[in-house]
Amino acid sequence: MTSPRVNLDGVEVSPDHFINGRRVDSSHTFEDRSPLDWSWKLADVARGTTLEAHDAVGAALDAFPAWAAFGVEGRGAFLDRLAELIDANIERIAHVECLDMAMLEDSLRLRVIARGARNFRAYAQLAREYEARRWSSNGTDNVVLRHPAGPTVVITPWNAPFMLSTWKCAPALAAGNTVVLKPAEWSPLSCSLLMDLVDEAGFPPGVFNLVQGFGEEVGAALVNDPRARRISFTGSPETGRIIGEAAAKNLVPFTAELGGKGPFIVFADADLDAAAKMAAVMFDDGGQVCLAGTRLLVEASIFDDFVERFRVETSQHVIGDSRHEATTISPLIHPEHFARVKGFVERARAHGDTVLFGGEEVSRQGLWYQPTVIEPLSNNSEVVQREIFGPVLTLQRFENEDEAVELANSTKYGLSAVIYTSSQKRAVRVGEKIRAGTVWVNCFLVRDLTAPFGGIGISGVGREGGDYALDFYSDLTTLQIKEGTTHG
Ligand code: NAD
Repeated sequence: MTSPRVNLDGVEVSPDHFINGRRVDSSHTFEDRSPLDWSWKLADVARGTTLEAHDAVGAALDAFPAWAAFGVEGRGAFLDRLAELIDANIERIAHVECLDMAMLEDSLRLRVIARGARNFRAYAQLAREYEARRWSSNGTDNVVLRHPAGPTVVITPWNAPFMLSTWKCAPALAAGNTVVLKPAEWSPLSCSLLMDLVDEAGFPPGVFNLVQGFGEEVGAALVNDPRARRISFTGSPETGRIIGEAAAKNLVPFTAELGGKGPFIVFADADLDAAAKMAAVMFDDGGQVCLAGTRLLVEASIFDDFVERFRVETSQHVIGDSRHEATTISPLIHPEHFARVKGFVERARAHGDTVLFGGEEVSRQGLWYQPTVIEPLSNNSEVVQREIFGPVLTLQRFENEDEAVELANSTKYGLSAVIYTSSQKRAVRVGEKIRAGTVWVNCFLVRDLTAPFGGIGISGVGREGGDYALDFYSDLTTLQIKEGTTHG
């Protein structure tokens, strides 16, 4: 059975799963609402169970041998076609994702959805270009071979769901694996549009499947299925631990890209206007960005000067409807998340931290929260040590480079860091000491898809990106041939 498509401002979206090349509904649904107007129900989405999880992994398993046998050229043609279709549908996907998670529509339209297309194109090409690593040692010639690993379960979070899902599915498919994707229940619709394009691109049934539903139900069934040969997860450290246990139980390789609490370090020799402008960018999309530098660490000698510039930059933000071009601060995704963010600020006040600006909800009718900056009582304050995932930054001062590094490395997270300095020597010296998967100097969110990406500490397990991802999604074999073995 299938459910009727819902019409969202002219874009038709299926609320169903996509299993074995077909739309399939479930006996139960869940409500998906828009953070732009919580009274607006976008869809009743299929609520998957162990049944759909079982069917989807089964379809992926059946489709696997033929997909693996296509080889990198054959698979690449499908991925390139999918990339073309994404590019041709950017406006539609961006609009639906904006309604569903309230990310700024312009940024989705101009950058984020196109990154999805780039993910498929780039991994198709990287897989084609792979030259088996070869070297001689101990009287043997060594060759590293990549083999497709099997059905891959991909579980993604609610922020930037389309881009983050394609970031994982593209290398898995390019490596020759078949995929079951489960997006988050708070923003399930843009990934459903992706499945229409998978269908249009002519992917064989079962190669790329989608199941919708709650993490504790269908998500848990997927990651516990012993037929899955890879699990790739993006989300919170708490869920990462649970999924890691399931992976360990079945001895399945697993990567996890988890939460962040990045430092944003401003040295006295930095271009302070540029640093203040970029610091204010951390509020974009309501601060619901894992890579954001949410702990501002500012050198004491320029502290007041920087804070004033930062305050001016922050006041330029426009809180509003994410569909409008002028808006820079979108609402938070869900009332539960809104209450969580608000709770952090309330506890900070009660604990004696100082709210320098913001610290209030914008209106009682919506999910918007003011850009907020808190000067903590100490580095142990909860707002410094825990990821808030909202428009709330902390502000601390440091006296010298050593103290900046010590503060930067003082949380359990290690996803990303931002450094502003005009000295290249300092940038390298400090950058080498920061414990984070990615360190940006005088920039933010610049990404090369071939670079390793992931987190240290509770920010992640393993690395994706470029050959790191293709290696992860492959079974590697080292072929060792004794030198002198005759040819022919
Ligand atoms: P979450 O951990 O609550 O959920 C993520 C996904 O896991 C969802 O699809 C959910 O349904 C599923 N899930 C939940 N319980 C499960 C279970 N028991 N078994 C299987 N699946 C389960 O995270 P979220 O609230 O959706 O996302 C926000 C978090 O994601 C933040 O911590 C953020 O920093 C992190 N994040 C990290 C990155 C990165 O690249 N490192 C990128 C984006 C978001």
